Amino acid sequence: LERGAEGVGLYRTEFLYLNKSAHPTEDEHHAAYSAVLAALGPARPVVIRTLDLGADKFSSVSGAVANEKNPFLGLRSVRLCLTNRDLFTTQLRAILRVGLLGDVRVMFPMISTVDELRQCKTLLNDVKEELEYAGIPFKRDVRVGTMIEVPSAALLADVLAGEVDFFSVGTNDLIQYTLAADRNNEHVAHLYNPADPTVLRLIRLVMQAAQKEHARRPADRPFEVNVCGEMSGEPLYVPLLVGLGLRQFSATPRKIPEIKRVIRELRIPEAEEVARRALGMECASQVTSYLRDYLRKLLPSEAVD
Ligand code: PEP
Ligand code: MG
Repeated sequence: LERGAEGVGLYRTEFLYLNKSAHPTEDEHHAAYSAVLAALGPARPVVIRTLDLGADKFSSVSGAVANEKNPFLGLRSVRLCLTNRDLFTTQLRAILRVGLLGDVRVMFPMISTVDELRQCKTLLNDVKEELEYAGIPFKRDVRVGTMIEVPSAALLADVLAGEVDFFSVGTNDLIQYTLAADRNNEHVAHLYNPADPTVLRLIRLVMQAAQKEHARRPADRPFEVNVCGEMSGEPLYVPLLVGLGLRQFSATPRKIPEIKRVIRELRIPEAEEVARRALGMECASQVTSYLRDYLRKLLPSEAVD
């Protein structure tokens, strides 16, 4: 809030599991989320992402499979949750209960098919029924979103949009899966690039699907989209993302003032032209040098690297 945030676009809940000797209880989940709600107040949105364990975020208590040969393509994230229903429902119960304290939204990570998303929603409804039956108060009308961080989800964005209230584009994973380049491997870091035309094309598809869905929804329940990967905290990509239609940025607090500074200088038609031109380019280096030149012109008094 000190840096000018208007909510929490991505609340990663993995920390509750890391370095622990037992699964957190429903009350431990609830206490952690309540603390955030207490700080933000009842009106600011808080997007709680369900567990995204596995691969690089490993916890021995999580039920994650150790020594998978290909953990980034393995039983991670929502896949792990769907095969460990108790783990999943404990968290969902806490999220639904804490929903009474403010504008809490729930988001599922690593969705790669529509069936997977529907299974998550079914489970969420089952949990609501359980709470109802037990007479435990909770927020029935909680907004549900999906991360778009697997290329299959980006390609299917028009279908997935019909299932949820919002999208959050996770560029950290989207880039690594699109370019088949491990986000933590320095040997392939040259391939891992947010400016790659393949990444830009996928983001464009997602934005187009989101805009179409937005036009279909009632004004009091708009379809929303944000980008929550590191890319949205990089000033270099802000004109491009605004030009593609992005109006919500989810970034690390440190970056918020820089992002706002760029946005204040932008004019929408110009940003749209930036996006149009960048999308016409063939390789990441061309896009990067174009965006760098543009940002230098936009903010002539600032160092752009
Ligand atoms: C992402 O993949 O872009 C993302 C925000 O999730 P995480 O970095 O936690 O994998
Ligand atoms: Mg991710």
